[in-house]
Amino acid sequence: MLDDLQHCTRARYEICIDPTASRNLFERPDNDGFGTITWNPQLRSELEDGCGSDPAGHVMRDPVASLLHEIVHAAHDCAGLDAGEYELEAVRVENIYRRAAGLCPRHGYGDDRLPLEPTKGCAPARCDCSAAGASTAQRMPRPAAVPHRAADSQATPDEIGGADPAR
Ligand SMILES: [Zn+2]
Repeated sequence: MLDDLQHCTRARYEICIDPTASRNLFERPDNDGFGTITWNPQLRSELEDGCGSDPAGHVMRDPVASLLHEIVHAAHDCAGLDAGEYELEAVRVENIYRRAAGLCPRHGYGDDRLPLEPTKGCAPARCDCSAAGASTAQRMPRPAAVPHRAADSQATPDEIGGADPAR
């Protein structure tokens, strides 16, 4: 993904570190051909309630996970895709890192939920998948994933663009 971005012929992407930014965001390239990722490496605010199977946990922003999320948007943009239509894909890639780093995985983006099937209820201190059949704890059923429409990128909390205020 990073190689694709480095050799992207469609646009160039800059990562701008902004310790005052209240959220990380990706801005599509303007006419100058430069897209911008605004990244606050100190931002560790809450994204969601619940951590894996622990409803009392919290999904917190993580600097690396956040940067990865925005880089996925840039990669989509470079591929000619509307990055706003692929928020759940950015979350899915972000979750690969989150799981590897022992962080709580995100459940979705705004009101859009990741499909339940590939989501295991793992948290750093408790994991449904470690003891086969031992855990009978049932999670509350989540609503089925809602098809993501392009217009949602304006209506939901969104890192793309930059005009709307912090969540
Ligand atoms: Zn995003």
